[in-house]
Amino acid sequence: MGKNNISKTKEALKTNSCEKYELAITNYVMGEKIDIPQSELFEHLAKCRSCQDDLKNWRATYGTMRATEYDSRPEVKQKNEAFIKELVYQNNGTKRTPIDFKWDAGSAAGKVYNALKGNGELPIPVLVQKTGLKEYNIHQAIGWLAKEGKIQGNKDDKTAYIRLKSDE
Ligand SMILES: [Zn+2]
Repeated sequence: MGKNNISKTKEALKTNSCEKYELAITNYVMGEKIDIPQSELFEHLAKCRSCQDDLKNWRATYGTMRATEYDSRPEVKQKNEAFIKELVYQNNGTKRTPIDFKWDAGSAAGKVYNALKGNGELPIPVLVQKTGLKEYNIHQAIGWLAKEGKIQGNKDDKTAYIRLKSDE
């Protein structure tokens, strides 16, 4: 019963005197201007457990909010992504050679053509597997063969399914 009385008293205190400090506390936590003298707020905080708790909760909430907000800023996101790219691609130490697009596409087209021949419609991942080519080479081959009018196909939300026109 004692506990009940205390929380009742606390609630009464809160509605009577704490209301005017609520906004001041949130503004204070967010580093914004407060509409009462700061000394008055501190004086109240010093003796009010309920407002101390509010302050603590707001600090925790605002801290989390700020971190999430910071991470989702476009410039921060971009920086993070650029950094990751750099890690993966810039410093991977592999030897790079110039791309001969025409030769790559032509030779990939030949391999893809042979992989498709007599096999009906094949999804791109299977073409990667059957030819041993990189996926971007498969895309080159598809572009080449499509331009030559050799292929047709279907697509869903995952990949494309390619077949030779001559297979029909
Ligand atoms: Zn209070």
